Amino acid sequence: MANLAELIHERTVEGELYEKLEGNRVRCFACGHCCPIPDGALGVCKVRFNRGGKLMVPFGYVGGTQCDPVEKKPFFHARPGALAFSFGMLGCDLHCSYCQNWVTSQALRDPQAISPPLRTTPQQLVEMALSLGGEIVVSTYNEPLITSEWSVAVFKEAKTAGLMTGFVSNGNGTPQVLEFIKPWVDLYKVDLKSFDDRHYRQLGGRLQPILDTIRRLYDMGFWLEIVTLLIPGFNDSNEELKRLTAFLAAISGDIPWHVTAFHRDYKMTDPANTTADDLMRAAEIGRQAGLRFIYAGNLPGQVGDLENTYCPDCHEILVERYGYHIRGYHLTSDGCCPSCFREVPGRWAEAYRPQITSRPFIPRFQILS
Ligand code: SF4
Repeated sequence: MANLAELIHERTVEGELYEKLEGNRVRCFACGHCCPIPDGALGVCKVRFNRGGKLMVPFGYVGGTQCDPVEKKPFFHARPGALAFSFGMLGCDLHCSYCQNWVTSQALRDPQAISPPLRTTPQQLVEMALSLGGEIVVSTYNEPLITSEWSVAVFKEAKTAGLMTGFVSNGNGTPQVLEFIKPWVDLYKVDLKSFDDRHYRQLGGRLQPILDTIRRLYDMGFWLEIVTLLIPGFNDSNEELKRLTAFLAAISGDIPWHVTAFHRDYKMTDPANTTADDLMRAAEIGRQAGLRFIYAGNLPGQVGDLENTYCPDCHEILVERYGYHIRGYHLTSDGCCPSCFREVPGRWAEAYRPQITSRPFIPRFQILS
């Protein structure tokens, strides 16, 4: 019986994000590692590999699908209340010890992370999304950059069906991959995990490619939201948070920043869980840096007004939330504050559609073959 790596390596096509080098080697551009890969070898992510001088990349399967409220991704300025049909493949280019999606992201590195690939097609996924009332299709759970060719194939179908699309990513991108996905990806969430290069090296990456990607995403016109999982003792010092939020505010004070609570998971079980006070301290640092839309996540009902969206000019409440539940929606049909008519940055719907779900669920029927 084939093992997991063999199964995944069967479900591949020749990739588009690479160049040929001398001696049958290739260089992959799908993520900031830009791996030079000899014939017969794997990239750092273990899902892209060189076969006879061609870069082979994952295609035609998912590690899982789920229906999430879009607030879970989290996107707070994109169709509040919409159902985000989410799919993931397997593998990641980082190896964060606190990963909350480790069953899929570390499937190739960790024998405990068992998540078999299920064959499917872009058409099947989009049909599922439509039948469930999804408005957005999201590539998530593993790192979508390293499986960009597959995401684009799914998103082409999704766009034909009138759906919005999104990436939930660690942001370890390259100019080439962003150009490749731009026509097909509307929303982009980056996990900015730290503002210290030493921390990123512990997770298997570098800070600079992530900062460059954030700047590029904004300049290229993706709808961008940033999340920082606040881990006590790892990335929560005032000094680090000041530098992180100043960096974001210098790009634009309109970028939503979600600061979310850590809970012990996977291999990182030493730090204490994040408290509501920790989140509120971080949010205040972000406010002083000039960020206008700051949200505190994972502790519903405990973080004051930090779950809601307010008009930055007149402070009118625009979207009321409790966790992933939308309690009130007050934007005008053209995405403005109803009180002072200030334009509010985001990708708003003309009319609010009541939520299909405020809790994630696995679709009851699977049309995967
Ligand atoms: S996706 Fe990243 S880690 Fe994987 S082969 Fe390409 S450059 Fe290397």
